[in-house]
This record gives sequence, structure tokens and C-alpha cells, in this order.
Amino acid sequence: MTKPSILILPGDGIGPEVMKEVRKVIDWYGTNLGLAFDVSEDLVGGVAYDAHGTPLHDSTLTKAQEVDAVLLGAVGGPDYDNLDFNVKPERGLLRLRKEMDLFANLRPAQCFNALAEFSSLKTEVVSGLDIMIVRELTSGIYFGEPRGIIEEGNERIGINTQRYTESEIDRVARSAFELARRRGNKVCSMEKANVMESGVLWREVVQKVHDEDYRDVELSHMYADAGAMQLCRWPKQFDVIVTDNLFGDLLSDAAAMLTGSLGMLPSASLGTPMANGRPKALYEPVHGSAPDIAGEGKANPIACILSFAMALRYSFDEGKEADRLEAAVESVLADGFRTADLLGEKGVDPVTTQQMGDAILAALNSTL
Ligand code: NAD
Repeated sequence: MTKPSILILPGDGIGPEVMKEVRKVIDWYGTNLGLAFDVSEDLVGGVAYDAHGTPLHDSTLTKAQEVDAVLLGAVGGPDYDNLDFNVKPERGLLRLRKEMDLFANLRPAQCFNALAEFSSLKTEVVSGLDIMIVRELTSGIYFGEPRGIIEEGNERIGINTQRYTESEIDRVARSAFELARRRGNKVCSMEKANVMESGVLWREVVQKVHDEDYRDVELSHMYADAGAMQLCRWPKQFDVIVTDNLFGDLLSDAAAMLTGSLGMLPSASLGTPMANGRPKALYEPVHGSAPDIAGEGKANPIACILSFAMALRYSFDEGKEADRLEAAVESVLADGFRTADLLGEKGVDPVTTQQMGDAILAALNSTL
């Protein structure tokens, strides 16, 4: 049987440092559990620009389209700030997402008990929190036409257009319902149907998809502004939230911060299923290339390691192994291991990127 394939794109700044720890975890699964992957590596972002004069070479894109999952570190950095807009490192990542047509962005907000004190909310409100925001990623107001700044009379007008087709709503709703079936079996759809026609259509289509194919999943609807309030008041009422590009951008950042540091947050972007039934998929930490700490061994590798856990669950159907990895992370945090970003007020010595990776491997070993 052919091994499942992963393309690793470490990128810039702390990307290669955190990805080194992820590779150790990937290898651990092959060595200890016979779950081996066919891993290849390539360039994206500033390093790709240095090598090829473009932040995403066509050959890299072709590989990304062919593998079962892409794992990306981070792109960007001050060396590339003055480049022409079209060859900036971030354009490489945006092109990758667009060409792979990754329409469903999954952002978990999961609070490890050992870090509950990091939240700005009360511990009892966030401890044990585990919700998933599914944001539509390739349409809506960030892409709709007409757009631009025009002149009318003696003033300028800024224009953006919220536009959703039924099929765009249908496919992201299906992603959310499928996810809910693997989790708490609940979906809350958020829009502004009270003031936006696109919201009226969104609500209708989500309800139709539910009634036709997902009656076993509990569905509720909420206006996005009320949803924002409920996320701060009692986030544990939610399991999966599905929403459009704009509201998802805001709600997923707000929900992520309920749980603490940027160094802890993974994400996945999924597209349509390939011939083998697996969705096209890109997994990446939410954080950027952190040039302020790059090369110092201070980066927290957990966001990138948890991104691989998401790949295990959503690309490789290895939910139990994803649980094992998440439990290993939980246990090193409970044992007091902290990279510098997780120290807060505590007077503990921080561990390095490599030490955190090694501690997670040791925790995985103890599960054998
Ligand atoms: P950033 O996420 O890189 O850093 C913000 C702050 O968080 C910094 O103080 C950094 O040290 C800290 N931080 C981030 N990740 C961390 C980790 N794993 N461990 C410990 N601390 C961590 O955001 P920024 O400073 O706004 O951007 C830096 C560069 O990254 C820019 O070039 C930006 O365009 C790029 N960027 C890339 C992505 C991406 O690749 N997806 C996302 C955001 C920003």
C-alpha cells in the first residue's frame, strides 16, 4: 500500500525551527506505530523568492496539489518588506490557498487546563473549552465585485461587495456538518440575516443542507453580533460554528484568544475531496514568522505540532492518533514545561523549542 504523502513547507523565520520538531513527531509515528508517511520538503515565502525569484514556484504548487496534505510553517520577515507586492512572501501563501481552492478554514479554540489562567476570561468559563470555527475562506466580501474606491461628486466612496452563491454556502455548510459528526454533533450558523440579504440566503441554504442530509446534527442559527457576545459570555455552549469570510475572520481571532498564546493555535484549510476521497488540505499554525525571536530557539512549536494533529484527524482519518498527540501536549503543559511565550508572571525557566519538542516525544513514548 502506498504511504500517505505530506509536503512540508517550513517557510521563513521560526517556520523551519518549529517544523523541525514536527518532523520528529511525524517520524515517531512511523518508527513506533508503523504509521509512516511519504514526506517531501520544499520552499515557500521569502526563501522561495531568494531561490527562484517568486514566493511560490509552479513546481511547488504542483506538488502541493498532488500530496494528501501540506504542512506549512510561516512566511514573511523584514528582509522582504520592501519587495514588490506581487512577490512578497505572503503572496505565495495566498496563491497556494487560492489555487488549491481551500474554501473551509478550520480554527479550533481549545483550552488546555494548564493554560486556563492565560485567558482574559474566568478560568471556569474557558477551562476544557473545545470549539471549532469553520470560516468560509474563498468568497464573500473580501472577493466580491464591484470593489474599489470611486469618485462621485466631490467625494470618494469605498466599495466592497458581500456576495455568496448557493453552492458556496452549501459546500462550507457540509464541511461544518461533517466535522460536527466527528465532534459534539452540534452546529451553530452565524450571519446577519436581520440586515443582509446574503445572510438570509446563508441561513436558508444551511437549513436546507441540514434538513436534506444532516438531520442527525443539531443545528441552530445566531446573528453574528449576538454570537460574538455569547462567545465571551459562555463559549462552551458551542461545538462547531460555521460562518462567512468576514465574520469568521473576526470571530475566529476572538475565540482563539480566549485560550491564550499565539504559539498554541493550529489551523486547517480544506478544499474539495480528491480522487482518494481525502480533502485537499493545508495545515499551518496561526502565528507568523516571528522575526523578533527567529533563530534563538525560543519559538513555541506546539501550534505547528497541533496542526499536524489536525492533519492526522482530518486528512488521514487517524482521530485516535490525533487524540494521542493532543494528550501528549496536554501532559507536558501539566508537567510545567513552558516556552518563553507561555511564562506569564511565573518565575520558571523557559524551555527551548527543541526541549519542548523532546518533552512531547517523551510524553508520546510513555503512551506505548
Ligand atoms: P507573528 O505571529 O509572527 O508574531 C507576533 C508576536 O507573537 C511576536 O512577538 C512573536 O515573537 C510571537 N510569536 C509568534 N509565534 C510564536 C511562537 N510560535 N512562539 C513564541 N512566540 C511567538 O506576527 P507579526 O509579528 O505580525 O508578523 C511577522 C511576520 O510574519 C510578517 O512578515 C507577517 O507578514 C508574517 N505573517 C505570516 C503569517 C503566515 O505565514 N501565516 C501569519 C501572520 C504574519
